[in-house]
Amino acid sequence: MRFGMHISTAPGLTKLADYAAEIGARTYQIFVDSPSTWSYGEYDPEKARAFVERRRELEQCPLVVHTGYLINLSSDNKETAEKSRTALAKEFAKATLVGADYLVLHPGKHMGRGRQRGLELIVEGLSAVFDELPADVEQPLLLLENSEGSGTCLGVGFDELRSLLDGLAEGGRRAGICLDTAHLWGAGYDLSSRESTRRVVDEFAGTVGLEHLHCFHLNDSLKELGSRTDRHAYLGEGEIGLAAFRELVNDARLENCAMILEKTGENKTHSKRLIAELEALRD
Ligand SMILES: [Zn+2]
Ligand SMILES: [Zn+2]
Repeated sequence: MRFGMHISTAPGLTKLADYAAEIGARTYQIFVDSPSTWSYGEYDPEKARAFVERRRELEQCPLVVHTGYLINLSSDNKETAEKSRTALAKEFAKATLVGADYLVLHPGKHMGRGRQRGLELIVEGLSAVFDELPADVEQPLLLLENSEGSGTCLGVGFDELRSLLDGLAEGGRRAGICLDTAHLWGAGYDLSSRESTRRVVDEFAGTVGLEHLHCFHLNDSLKELGSRTDRHAYLGEGEIGLAAFRELVNDARLENCAMILEKTGENKTHSKRLIAELEALRD
């Protein structure tokens, strides 16, 4: 099982892999652009290649790219929906350039048109983006991240995640799932004990299938179970508590999942300690 963290790319791609090694991250997540804007800069291909090479030397994998927050393939605003497709295609291009294994996407919001219609529009949008991806380049696997269920967010229950994968003709090949523990908790999945956490994984296995699960965002939550709100906390410092995380890192069925802390430390030493503490939860 590989443990890591979300890491800022602000210092530049060239320093990223060594920084990750220093804090003990064997896998990590990055944004390839500012997540709250529609703007997309270009990567210097040389630097991108050097980053891929350095990761290989340091045996850091998988690399997870988290897409921007503005993307909503099921928006009722035509312009936003189109912008979202273009943005997602750009995320794919940049993620491919840095050799990312996974591209994480928040499924979207239905904005009042109903859950079923919203899910259909996401499938339509994703299929259109997949169709345009260059066939001769290996693409990262798109991971749909579960939502805590605020507002009209989709992808809250495992049934919705299943229906999204089912809707994609090649769902099993092009897309998979990333589970965020704070979002599970917000959506009402009980992670308060090892037993209840195991039951949640069992339910996912029965509804979606563990072969589709590739990544966890390990976040504790400042809010109560079923709050439909997402407020991340350090593990053990929120309402979920350590039992859930102890259960997840010791579940042999999840051995191949990338275990990523999204709440970064206040500095390098703190980040290193957070990853070490996570690893120490292994029996
Ligand atoms: Zn996310
Ligand atoms: Zn979150």
